[in-house]
Amino acid sequence: MPVTLESDPITSQRTLNSYVANWADLALRLVNELATGWARGRPHPPPTDAAAILRVIRPAQTLAHGVHIAPLTEDDALDLAATVTRLRAAIDACVDGEVQDAAEILNEVMAANHAVPNLHRHPGMPFIFAFHTGDHTGAQARAADMAASLALVIGSGREARLRRCEAARCDRVFYDTTRNASRRFCDLQCQNRAKASAHRARRASTLTDRAE
Ligand SMILES: [Zn+2]
Repeated sequence: MPVTLESDPITSQRTLNSYVANWADLALRLVNELATGWARGRPHPPPTDAAAILRVIRPAQTLAHGVHIAPLTEDDALDLAATVTRLRAAIDACVDGEVQDAAEILNEVMAANHAVPNLHRHPGMPFIFAFHTGDHTGAQARAADMAASLALVIGSGREARLRRCEAARCDRVFYDTTRNASRRFCDLQCQNRAKASAHRARRASTLTDRAE
């Protein structure tokens, strides 16, 4: 399957190469678990010890089907958590309109983890276009694939679809797959919270107007 590079403002995640879409999606999920201070109105202290980080990162294993990827150690987990904070900075930069900064961060992460275009497969399986080789450590392979996949989101003109929840006290990130790129909240719970607080603000201003 070729990597799609054309610019297409009205698109969905499905039109990205599925390997890229899966790793970009994992990057967003790990940012939400490991590098988000507030989630859905509540403090969200990310795990700091290797065993807890490893439990969060474990879904990364299931994405590796058909591709040789080294298993994760506890050291890998700590390395990867550090990388995820860099990915958070890149996504935040995109959301804040600083795409140049986002590109520089992703370039750094790709270089530091020796991201390399690489075709590989298990015997009898189709080839997969990945961004790591069999020589990468578990952390390097995943960092390279996540950073390269986010870089492809930007490199195919889709950076405006990288979003951060607009509800108060929520820093969760997501990829907006809506047709007109209009999604503002990470989930229904935050959408309802934002609606309720807008309603309270309107009521308060109405009461103030009456009092004057
Ligand atoms: Zn939210």
